[in-house]
Amino acid sequence: MKGSLLYEGKAKQVYRVEGEAEQLILSYKNDATAFNGKKKDQFNGKGRLNNLISANVFAYLHQHDVRSHFIKTLNDTEQLVEKTTIIPLEVVVRNVAAGSIVKRLGLEEKQPFDSPLIELFYKNDDLNDPLINDEHAYLLADVTEEELNVLKRMTLTVNTQLRSLFADVNLQLVDFKLEFGRRQDGSLVLSDEISPDTCRLWDRETGEKMDKDVFRQGLGDLVDVYEVILQRLEEKAHA
Ligand code: ADP
Ligand code: UDP
Repeated sequence: MKGSLLYEGKAKQVYRVEGEAEQLILSYKNDATAFNGKKKDQFNGKGRLNNLISANVFAYLHQHDVRSHFIKTLNDTEQLVEKTTIIPLEVVVRNVAAGSIVKRLGLEEKQPFDSPLIELFYKNDDLNDPLINDEHAYLLADVTEEELNVLKRMTLTVNTQLRSLFADVNLQLVDFKLEFGRRQDGSLVLSDEISPDTCRLWDRETGEKMDKDVFRQGLGDLVDVYEVILQRLEEKAHA
């Protein structure tokens, strides 16, 4: 049964589970934020779409031997997950140049990378999630060099699997962000969400942006676009 609210973030609420100290309920909100909370809005149906898309993606990863915190979907907006202590890192993988790297390094948007590029950001709203290097991560995120290498390898495996999943539904996986958490026994596990809020996805035929950039850049109706992604993933899952 749903317990008390543990934490409320920008996109989700996190609830305890009565009688299950090692589980949490993630409740996806309709809120959208960008530019570290400076741009905000609410979209009816967004919480449901991200909950169901994220569940679908975690289920696909599970089928391909990539474990995560995901246990099961509870209802339209909520999922049951393993409780972890989140490592305060945003692990970003880029297959194609877009977003912050374009401005930071003066690259051309749409430039593909020969091999996926990993960047680490320190998950800290007060500091605006700064880009950090490995040595900063050992200092700030309580991970050893060996563990960081494990996280990077897991991230590249997720990238390989997700590129294939999204290519099958006619989407190009441009980049995405992962979070990892630590279980009580010390092991590291993929956590948080994988949704169009945390991935850049471009239609493979039209090049149309089908992710949170629709909101960031005011390109159209975010809910309509997310609905198309869910429909394509569900059609594939039931094919
Ligand atoms: P933010 O905190 O960045 O505003 P959200 O609104 O998505 O983000 O809030 C969800 C919070 O839950 C995040 O801080 C995320 O790191 C955390 N979280 C995700 N999965 C787990 C988990 N399995 N155990 C504990 N915390 C988690
Ligand atoms: N991302 C995210 N949460 C963040 C920052 C980035 O999910 O707090 C995702 C973002 O949606 C994109 C990828 O990570 O898919 C790379 O984001 P980028 O560094 O380009 O930052 P942006 O300009 O999108 O904020």
